[in-house]
Amino acid sequence: MIFFTSFDPIFDTYVLGNAPLKQIASGFDWVEGPVWFGDADCLLFSDIPNNRIMRWSPETGISTYRAPSNYANGQTRDREGRLVTCEHGTRRVTRTELDGSITVIADSYQGKRLNSPNDVVVKSDGSIWFSDPHYGIKTNYEGYQAEQELPCQVYRVDPAQGGIDAMLTDFACPNGLAFSRDESRLFVADTGAMFDAAAERHIRAFDVGADGSLSGGEVFHVIDPGCSDGFRIDSDDNIWSSAADGVHCINSSGALIGKILVPELVSNVCFGGRAKHRLFITASTGVYSIVLNRQGVQGP
Ligand code: MG
Repeated sequence: MIFFTSFDPIFDTYVLGNAPLKQIASGFDWVEGPVWFGDADCLLFSDIPNNRIMRWSPETGISTYRAPSNYANGQTRDREGRLVTCEHGTRRVTRTELDGSITVIADSYQGKRLNSPNDVVVKSDGSIWFSDPHYGIKTNYEGYQAEQELPCQVYRVDPAQGGIDAMLTDFACPNGLAFSRDESRLFVADTGAMFDAAAERHIRAFDVGADGSLSGGEVFHVIDPGCSDGFRIDSDDNIWSSAADGVHCINSSGALIGKILVPELVSNVCFGGRAKHRLFITASTGVYSIVLNRQGVQGP
């Protein structure tokens, strides 16, 4: 089996010739939101149309973590290790506290309901950044069809005050997002309006000021084929992004240096495993993993 395509010799050092791409779970409808819990040795991910969050462990296999999940999508952990979840059905971002209770982080902006929060990242200062495209309210497939009240924007929630600010307002549909390792740059995917053949399919890069303000925003990389539904960053600031033919590895200069070829349409990825060296890949009806000679950025 050929699992890789390399466009740069350095990518050959990132992959292991005898480490297989394995499907570790299947039978879902559209999986997303992978997040690794090293302390519990398990992966959580969303099966959006089936309104549930699943758990996979190498010891015990697959089980249901939360159902209904309010059509949960993207997920991450905050700097205290708590689960942070985007929910289409309730049009909000929540935090699962250590005792299991749910705290609403954001569900509205300027008195209007959010659209359908899609993906989320937490900065080291505790601020919570999330994208809010309209995919989850356009149809009844991944949530509840509803009127759109707000533009598709990227928001920041203040860790201390809880206030919410619209940080990026010039996207068609913002989607996956991640900070560079030193948090000097913020990368945000634009995946365009649904059903639009000419939709945006790129990742933009913003400079992050000391006060958290953003500048720049040039197109960093155009995904081809497909689009960047979600991505994570490794310890050398390479971006590992979803694409139509697998996972694309994009270096810190914006060049495509290699691909992991996946037999289903990929939605998102996360690093996990003992040394954060195992890439988990959510792809349409299945979840895959592959061990790499790479590590995800530090953090929970
Ligand atoms: Mg997404």
